[in-house]
Amino acid sequence: MVRTGTQYLESIKDKRNVFIGGKKADDVTTHPAFKGITRTIANLYDIAADESNNMTYETEDGTIANKIYMIPKSREDLRDRREAISKWSESTFGFVGRSPDHVAAFMAGFASSPEVFERGNPKLKNNALNFYKFARDNDLYLSYVIIPPQIDRSKAAHELEEKFLATGVYEERQDGIVIRGSQMLGTGAAVSDYLLVSCITPLKPGDETYAVSFVVPMDAPGLKLYARPSYAADKPSTYDYPLSTRFDESDALVVFDDVFIPWERVFIYKDIKLVQAQFHETPAHRLGNSQAQTRFVSKLKFIIGLARKIAAANGIDKIPAVAEKLGELASLASSAEGMLLASEYYCTIDKNGTAVPNSRFLYGAMGLQNTLYPQVIHIFRELVGGGVLQVPSSYKELINPETRNDMQKYIRSATVQVEEKVQLFKLAWDVIGSEFAGRHQQYEMFYAGAPFVAKGFSFRNYGYEEAVALADKCLESYGLPEEASVQN
Ligand SMILES: Cc1cc2nc3c(=O)[nH]c(=O)nc-3n(C[C@H](O)[C@H](O)[C@H](O)COP(=O)(O)OP(=O)(O)OC[C@H]3O[C@@H](n4cnc5c(N)ncnc54)[C@H](O)[C@@H]3O)c2cc1C
Repeated sequence: MVRTGTQYLESIKDKRNVFIGGKKADDVTTHPAFKGITRTIANLYDIAADESNNMTYETEDGTIANKIYMIPKSREDLRDRREAISKWSESTFGFVGRSPDHVAAFMAGFASSPEVFERGNPKLKNNALNFYKFARDNDLYLSYVIIPPQIDRSKAAHELEEKFLATGVYEERQDGIVIRGSQMLGTGAAVSDYLLVSCITPLKPGDETYAVSFVVPMDAPGLKLYARPSYAADKPSTYDYPLSTRFDESDALVVFDDVFIPWERVFIYKDIKLVQAQFHETPAHRLGNSQAQTRFVSKLKFIIGLARKIAAANGIDKIPAVAEKLGELASLASSAEGMLLASEYYCTIDKNGTAVPNSRFLYGAMGLQNTLYPQVIHIFRELVGGGVLQVPSSYKELINPETRNDMQKYIRSATVQVEEKVQLFKLAWDVIGSEFAGRHQQYEMFYAGAPFVAKGFSFRNYGYEEAVALADKCLESYGLPEEASVQN
């Protein structure tokens, strides 16, 4: 089944505990902090439900599902999946990081490798696969929290000054487990259907209580979300903050106040090795991050397009030095896109027949992201100059009889009128300077782990054999000068 936007909106009107501004949000679909993003996600579901967008496929079980849940079996499947993901990411211009396709890809990775889960507790071995089918066939929106809270990173979870600061098993019952603690950072969690909870940072011996993987519906009793400040609420209009008002997906600290999880929703129980294996011995991490790179490529394309339009509006696009900056942006964007396409072209087929994006190119792209994105933003800042601040506080100055003549006279360019000029520059500010923009820089630098983690993936997955062999070949092609060997 593929849902419509309306069905999605209905599904999240429940008793979830989302706290913002010191209060509980009664209905996230109407609350000013979340209304914009829920409309955006609803639109994604409508895009997928529209047959002309070719976003559905026939599953292994003969059901029709959203391609975000596809387990790719070939390079062509990977391309098909990427094209579907791009339909969504181009509709948000790459500014919704945790749209439903992100965690769906992790679940597809889990489901593709049942043998990994079979290594754990026998009574749980089919749970990940069963839940994947349930999520796929109901077109659910999953978010995830897989990082322990930032308290003291020098200590393992069990060494922290109190028990259950990180998320762990407080009690084992016959029908399930009771979870206590907290986890970061639930992007999109406030407006999703289910939360996947686990720990991707390596756990240490003694951390068994914290070595779990499970899913929980967002309205589960005791599950609480503490959302950061909204960048959407209190904005004068979408014209003034076009990205903040529509794409602020929210991030939240997640607290488990003794949340009951029935056994059938537990994938891994007190197993440190398996918690790591679920991400890295299945294609989950690579499928999830190929979705992330697809989104990132859409975002870069959008930014360089906007930079080009602004340069033209300001009459600077013909200056050679400006063309050089635009060219640098184009190079950065095309290298990210090239690495994504290379990861698809050089995919491998694993022992379960799943097409897995090539690790060298995928992790190579991720390792660059924390410097590449700030570089793109820096060049874009240089190009827009002070124009982003030479805009009125809101659209209201454009219509107020006392101010509109000044706006028309002084805020224009050789090629566009005031309305378009203000529109362009307000959009640029939401990319580089608003709170939403600042959060996006943090997001691109940290969403797949801190920069040292992303570069670590690149280090471990490059596959140095060829490179080292080439260095060896060069070293072997010369030696000490003859006179030195004679002296020896
Ligand atoms: C906007 C945003 C959205 C996010 N959304 C999600 C989400 O939806 N789900 C989710 O699970 N997580 C999410 N995250 C969390 C993200 O995964 C973490 O931020 C990330 O794993 C890094 O952890 P940390 O922020 O605690 O940084 P830390 O691990 O505390 O690292 C901070 C800095 O400390 C230094 N440092 C720390 N340890 C080391 C070390 N061992 N070696 C060298 N230097 C070190 C580095 O300079 C590092 O950059 C999100 C984060 C952001 C910023």
